[in-house]
Amino acid sequence: MTAIAEHNTTTSAEYVALDEEWSTHNYHPLPVVIAEGEGAWVTDVEGRRYLDFLSGYSSLNFGHRHPELIAATVDQLNKVTLTSRAFHHDQFGLFCRELATLTGTEMVLAMNSGAEAVESAIKVARKWAYQVKGVPSGTAEIVVAGSNFHGRTTTIVSFSTDETARQDFGPFTPGFRVVKYGNLDEIASAITPNTAAVLIEPIQGEAGVVVPPAGYLAGIRRLCDEHNVLMICDEIQSGLARTGELFALDHEGVRADLYTLGKALGGGIMPVSAVVGSRAVLGVLRPGEHGSTFGGNPLACAIGRAVVRLLATGEYQERSRELGGYLHTRLGSLVGRGVAEVRGRGLWAGVEIAPGGPVGRVASEALAARGVLCKETQATTLRVAPPLVITRDEIDMGVEAIAAVLGR
Ligand SMILES: *Cc1c(COP(=O)(O)O)cnc(C)c1O
Repeated sequence: MTAIAEHNTTTSAEYVALDEEWSTHNYHPLPVVIAEGEGAWVTDVEGRRYLDFLSGYSSLNFGHRHPELIAATVDQLNKVTLTSRAFHHDQFGLFCRELATLTGTEMVLAMNSGAEAVESAIKVARKWAYQVKGVPSGTAEIVVAGSNFHGRTTTIVSFSTDETARQDFGPFTPGFRVVKYGNLDEIASAITPNTAAVLIEPIQGEAGVVVPPAGYLAGIRRLCDEHNVLMICDEIQSGLARTGELFALDHEGVRADLYTLGKALGGGIMPVSAVVGSRAVLGVLRPGEHGSTFGGNPLACAIGRAVVRLLATGEYQERSRELGGYLHTRLGSLVGRGVAEVRGRGLWAGVEIAPGGPVGRVASEALAARGVLCKETQATTLRVAPPLVITRDEIDMGVEAIAAVLGR
């Protein structure tokens, strides 16, 4: 038997030291140790309160511990949590029907993490290419954009353009063509008779909340139709009300063949992801070809159903539209005063720090010291993505902290 040392850790520094010693060093978090969260606020182990201006990269769209999500979770915890897909359970079909209805699709492939949803969409697109489109076996290609972020698996980093994400993780999965984001001509040139899909983020989050030129996404839809290619929209970060619509793609009035969903689909409670789309595409999967022990488990489905209920009211999309307009107006007033540019849509913004200002990491730390949590992405961009339950006054607090940290 191994004796586990008694827990007597109390200060933030002690908790940080534990992480440093016992966890792999695959992240570089701010030195804030969160112990509790509610709505748009978190409290650290020393009792300091912070406004959450990041919301788990859009996983906490409904804030921390939304009462309806917690109630659905507790209710399901008292019934059954896992069956595996060896059996049916009473939450699964309802979750699939409700999510498909909300998203205007016909079928749901339930997974856990976002990366798994993307992996699943890639597999489905390849199978569709061989079985439906008639692409010669083993030659299917998927067109992706530079500066993409779709997750961390070996196949997904195979088509990343971030060297840190790839270095020493090869050999890589073939079958991807990388083009410049925002350039429609490059997509047109990259499509061949063997192209199965175009996989795209409608707004690139990790790249710095980069919004493509107007007409780009609709143009991809048109090219996909012309060449019998699937359009796969990765809405893991941009979807589920973040930009003021259910999907960021909705702003261009077109539909994807497959959407990957994750992050907020689990209500900030547990990982829940899915690929949603048409029967003609998702219908290619047969028993034994793909799966996940935890995918579509009863607890995940109960939480996912509660998330769908919140989204079906339209209230969060509306909040994101209205308050997002306010956020962008306020942040926009900082341009020329320490801010070079503000990008984004709805309650989602990439704040580009002006040359000569602090690097992103230093700015994030300074914001934390002022009680506002957000995180740099790339060296010079602050990613602002507050929970959609945030109020105007709270937005003011956050923006004033950013002004104080970046303002000159
Ligand atoms: C976060 C994210 C992923 C990966 O999700 P994980 O749950 O971290 O695996 C994929 N695509 C996009 C656009 C994301 O933002």
